[in-house]
Amino acid sequence: MPEKSFVETPGPAGRPARNRRRRTGEASDPPAEGGSLSPPTSPPMSPMMAQFWRAKKAEPGALLFFRMGDFYELFDEDARIASRELGIALTSRSKGDDAVPMAGVPVRAFESYLMKLVRRGHKVAICEQLEDPRDARGLVERGIVRVVTAGTITEEDALDARENNYLACLHLPSRPGARAGLAWVDLSTGSLSASELAPGEIADEIARIQPAELLWPAGAREREGELAAELSRQLGPRISEREEWRFDPGATRRTLLRHFKVATLEGFGVEEDSALVPAAGALVEYLEETQRSACEHVRRIHLVQPGDHLILDRATRSCLELVRTQRDGRREGTLVETLDATVTPMGGRLLREWLLAPLRGPEAILERQRGVAELFEAPFLREELRERLREVLDVERLAAKVSTGRANARDLAALAGSLAAVPPVRAKLESAYSAMLGRLDADLDPLEDVAGRIRATLVDAPPLSIKDGGIVREGFSGELDELRAASGDGRSWMARFQAAEVERTGIAGLKVGFNSVFGYYIEIPRGQAERAPQDYVRKQTVKSAERYVTPELKEFEAKVLGAEERARELEYRIFCELREALVPELGRILDTAHALAQVDVLAALAQKAAENRYTAPAIDRGDTIKIVDGRHPVIERVPDGESFVPNDSHLDSGERRITILTGPNMAGKSTYIRQTALIVLLAQIGSFVPAREAKIGVVDRIFTRVGASDDIGRGESTFMVEMVEVANILNNASSRSLVVLDEVGRGTSTFDGLALAWAIVEHLHEKVRARTLFATHYHQLTELSARLSGVCNRNVAVREWNDEIVFLHRIVEGGTDRSYGIHVARLAGVPPEVLERARAILRDLEEDSEDLTARISRHAPKSGARGPQQLSLFGPRESKVEAALAKLDLDRLSPIDALLELKRLRELL
Ligand code: ADP
Ligand code: MG
Repeated sequence: MPEKSFVETPGPAGRPARNRRRRTGEASDPPAEGGSLSPPTSPPMSPMMAQFWRAKKAEPGALLFFRMGDFYELFDEDARIASRELGIALTSRSKGDDAVPMAGVPVRAFESYLMKLVRRGHKVAICEQLEDPRDARGLVERGIVRVVTAGTITEEDALDARENNYLACLHLPSRPGARAGLAWVDLSTGSLSASELAPGEIADEIARIQPAELLWPAGAREREGELAAELSRQLGPRISEREEWRFDPGATRRTLLRHFKVATLEGFGVEEDSALVPAAGALVEYLEETQRSACEHVRRIHLVQPGDHLILDRATRSCLELVRTQRDGRREGTLVETLDATVTPMGGRLLREWLLAPLRGPEAILERQRGVAELFEAPFLREELRERLREVLDVERLAAKVSTGRANARDLAALAGSLAAVPPVRAKLESAYSAMLGRLDADLDPLEDVAGRIRATLVDAPPLSIKDGGIVREGFSGELDELRAASGDGRSWMARFQAAEVERTGIAGLKVGFNSVFGYYIEIPRGQAERAPQDYVRKQTVKSAERYVTPELKEFEAKVLGAEERARELEYRIFCELREALVPELGRILDTAHALAQVDVLAALAQKAAENRYTAPAIDRGDTIKIVDGRHPVIERVPDGESFVPNDSHLDSGERRITILTGPNMAGKSTYIRQTALIVLLAQIGSFVPAREAKIGVVDRIFTRVGASDDIGRGESTFMVEMVEVANILNNASSRSLVVLDEVGRGTSTFDGLALAWAIVEHLHEKVRARTLFATHYHQLTELSARLSGVCNRNVAVREWNDEIVFLHRIVEGGTDRSYGIHVARLAGVPPEVLERARAILRDLEEDSEDLTARISRHAPKSGARGPQQLSLFGPRESKVEAALAKLDLDRLSPIDALLELKRLRELL
């Protein structure tokens, strides 16, 4: 079969490649001659397709992006998948029975395609041309350079600068009940963290980290049904199974020792038999496997002790709208957006991390808070620091690009430019008196050697391409300067040569030119071609001219072209040497980036405290939460003309353990209970808080639940979700927790809901003893304060005026004894006759309801009660349901069983 040159450059995405040909010197059979492009079993196959199938075999689970010129092409089944997922056209190589489906994405814009594929759980193997097609003899050598997954994607265009992109790995021990290991890394910044978790903590911790991809042992899906269901709800297809043997403790430990170049892991505070070793080891192995490089920027394990942090579960994070709003999942209108005055991408990411994992220990909290306070009190220092930090680009991600060999000259110049901000930031921090700023000052490495080396090597504004020259500074290399002079001299030589030839031939229109196919030539206009001298050798005829060369011109060309080519190669070599030389410095660079990020966050918190009139809360281990004139940090910023009404909060574990908050719809109940939770959370990240004064006895967890919140996405009945979440609180809250319940019990019928709400408050009061805020429209619950010593009532003041109600948004002591539904209906424009009828029915019901409250009140809990005791809820007749209820052991009941039980009870009814 004749071998012809085949074109490497396909057309635009999805269009057939064959019509646009380019000479590449690559041999391959021409499709027109029916060269078979079939799967490996049916010969004959073109050398290139054989190469494709070899690469495919090396990464069978991945879609193969096969580099051909300016495109990545996908073939066969991969092409079908890509065409479906990306909406790009499916074409085919060759026609007829041998047709191989093919689809392509342009290299210039492949990031967005890549992102789409990995987000849907696909792996993509990138198969590059490993040599310049111009140099290739025969087939261009190709090989897989890395495998991209949702957790290992580092393309800037695919990532949000303000969020980390985590790859997590979960190790589940074979012994039931033993601790699990979790490790997670942001490959784009190099930070690797790990922790040991009790089985019950796994799902919440993964929900907090929100990994883009999770690795876990194959087989876990069967063994851990419940966890698997929860994780696939969270992560969808982005769970990758790894063989069990990859989690072998001994082998993973050796992987870690080798990767971190240490003799023991104890330097990281990690015990060798810890469950996090297999997790971290399997994670690092996956990185090496997908990146095909050592990932030098992943340099240590940061040990996370769950006990260090205030725990926020999925529902709480969502309800408090920390980083996404509940309604549309956006950043606008969230706490992070309100607080984010950071000026660097690293700072933005760190602030988000702090918000999702506040601290628990007063010492750690106060260390941060004193740093914020110092910058709060020194507005000039703060502004100067922020001014400097604005010059700092994403040093963490630039460092990661250096480590993976993907940094270009512009990246290195950006790195040097960013590092230039370090010495002035250090100088500013030198006189800081707070411990944290002092420590950060010490952590900042001026890195003048690194920045200096980059600046001495590269020009100020290098081009994007690292192979086409123009990136190395003059004076850096004598050899390079000489080569450049040679080609530069060439240019003036050419001018002189042209002038001399014009004079010799007397042809005024004679020009010396260059093109990439024929090299240098002398061009004479068509009309004067016969006057060309004898020694001119004709090379090419163009439209209106003839082109010639002379021996002298050829000799010149060899010299100039050679010099230019050599200069380009030398520049590339110098650049690669520079990039390599930075790898050992990555540790210093990343530590400095982390310190800069912290300075940025402290300054941002100080800035927001000053802008929004926040104050520093007192922090201690006591049980009192006392807030004077607290405000909701997000809602107070919403400009709706009405100014925000501040309110006090007061909780402790004695008489003010539980606040029952009543009041009409739209009064401000939900706002108030959330604002209390947010103020506690802000205090525990070290921030100032929106209040005139605050004293926070630290909490270990915050739980918030909203009754019957719609959660259609999870495909469960809303009341079921509500009860699962309540069960979670009742089972997991401690006396140090803060529990915020909003209209719990609303999702079912009145009696049902009221009875549940009542029993929940009693349980929280008696057993859990957590500080609790309970907003409810069941005004009957206010009765509880008379019976339980730790319950107090508050309500949202409204003024009634001409049969209308005016919301004052002010929280006052005491309960309400009526619901305002009919007033609200009136305000909403419900017709008068309907309202009149409703009033009549209400009067009737209220008589009964007094009876109901009195009846419930008779059922005091077993201890801590103030009132008399009675035996059963609805008098002496005990129904089947009541009997079953009485038998339930709530302490032993798992959330799922509770739900099943509820369902059964309902059926009994
Ligand atoms: P509820 O939960 O009692 O039905 P919300 O907390 O949802 O009421 O508040 C209803 C509206 O009142 C919200 O839109 C909010 O903007 C406004 N609001 C709530 N609290 C205040 C306040 N303290 N000052 C000013 N406006 C408030
Ligand atoms: Mg509400």
